[in-house]
Amino acid sequence: MTKSKLDELVFLPLGGSNEIGMNFNLYGFGPPHDRKWIVVDLGVTFGDQTTPGVELILPDPTFIEEHAKDILGIVLTHAHEDHIGAVAWLWPRLKAPLYATPFTAFLLREKLREAGLLSEVSITEIPLSGSFSLGPFDLTLITLTHSIPEPNGVAIRTPLGTILHTGDWKIDPDPLTGDATDEAAIRALGDEGILAMVCDSTNVFVDGEAGSEADVRETLNALIGTLKGKVATACFASNVARMDTIIRAAEANDRRVCLVGRSMIRMSQAARSVGLLEGVKPFVSDSEAGYFPGDKVLYLCTGSQGEARAALSRIADGTHPHVKLGQGDACVFSSRIIPGNEVPIRNLQNKLADRGVRLYTERDHPGIHVSGHPCRDELKRMYQWARPEIAVPTHGERRHLLEHAALAKDLQVPQAIAPRNGDMVRLAPGRAEIIDEVPAGRLYVDAGVVTPENGDALRERRHASFNGVLAISIALDGRGRIASGPQVRALGMPGDDDYPLSEAMDDLAEEAHRALGKLSADDREDDHAVEAMLSRTVKKAAFRIWKRRPVVETTVLRV
Ligand SMILES: [Zn+2]
Ligand SMILES: [Zn+2]
Repeated sequence: MTKSKLDELVFLPLGGSNEIGMNFNLYGFGPPHDRKWIVVDLGVTFGDQTTPGVELILPDPTFIEEHAKDILGIVLTHAHEDHIGAVAWLWPRLKAPLYATPFTAFLLREKLREAGLLSEVSITEIPLSGSFSLGPFDLTLITLTHSIPEPNGVAIRTPLGTILHTGDWKIDPDPLTGDATDEAAIRALGDEGILAMVCDSTNVFVDGEAGSEADVRETLNALIGTLKGKVATACFASNVARMDTIIRAAEANDRRVCLVGRSMIRMSQAARSVGLLEGVKPFVSDSEAGYFPGDKVLYLCTGSQGEARAALSRIADGTHPHVKLGQGDACVFSSRIIPGNEVPIRNLQNKLADRGVRLYTERDHPGIHVSGHPCRDELKRMYQWARPEIAVPTHGERRHLLEHAALAKDLQVPQAIAPRNGDMVRLAPGRAEIIDEVPAGRLYVDAGVVTPENGDALRERRHASFNGVLAISIALDGRGRIASGPQVRALGMPGDDDYPLSEAMDDLAEEAHRALGKLSADDREDDHAVEAMLSRTVKKAAFRIWKRRPVVETTVLRV
């Protein structure tokens, strides 16, 4: 590939910069009017109490959708939802071939099959450490360690320089599942010369190192050996090394393992497809496990984050059909609290404690979990190996990215640039700088429908959930005379003995009635005028009564 004078190499995050989640990174090469693009990762993030009912949040691909024909490929670094979760949702708008290693490809195929897209999408399986070319981009995967099988960094060689896109990583000398971080490959790439390193910032505020899975295995093994009664453990299903650790610890302590939760079973199948979880005893089903003596069984459960529909929440609620925990049993949380999940996790743990279940968490039993992301000492080592010209922190909130940029500067990296989603960073030629700002935002998956961030449905739902709803209905004849009503009904509005809700409804109806009387004969024949008057009146009265602005729904019937 030859380069022309107009060629530029750009990095453009459309998700994952200024947030942890929803990773969606683009690299562009060519003159500004004719760039070729590759996508690295296409993930989701999850809603919170500000997005009631929203199942998933996707990055808005509008900018790159307009250049869809110039997307040469979508490379998926690993199978975490924040890296692959949006593929099935957004592929129809991008339509580029997918590239992934076998474990990730297994899970991608499953998602695409569920979405009915499998026959349309081309997935090329790349072996670990494999290389492939997409137009001006020559890519080589680099094996790293993380908290899921097959985490890959990507070396992206272009005529204007080489990028090391780390994806998610840590340095685990003994990851137990898969190979250790390929230090030699990173050093060799560093010797060759790395223009820019686009790197994970998640744990930039944590000193030291994340710690090794091998240590977790030892700790959990010892802990489970001390437990009597039934043991339930919770971890992320995708953390196959942890799953393996817990299974071995159970077997070493003469307990059979029962997987509880759909994603736990799905992940065990994905793991087996690439030769992991070898030599473990067959799992017992949750219905069988009930017949085992308590101290001969260990339940490996989904739901470490307090997810309402996951196995552990159902067990805590006493609504799981087969698994019951109570006095003398134990629950081990081999996981961290993802920020934002504090409340549901606390609720879950309180319910378990109330049943007499003893809880073991990372906080009171250090060593039963380690993070999958690099802490400061690991970041320092990575910079020493890679020696990039430009540091581009991603996979972090604003404060993480800025701290990471400062750390890179301290480590003598000549330039550091912390982008926001939508910032187009020119990496070469010349000094790295933000040369453009393109639209970037979020899409919500709401009851299975992809909706814009500022769509009406969520806005109304949020408004109603904080302020309540008032519905007014009235029936008028053709000339505007009242046939019945007005009637007002409330949803989510408070009342008490001093001023019962029924009385408030009557008062509102009466005000509406009076207001109608002020309308001219012409206006009373006009539905819109009637609706506007009723709505205005009730809103005003509601504010006087409750100091709130409920959603007001008006129905005018003509009889
Ligand atoms: Zn990850
Ligand atoms: Zn991630």
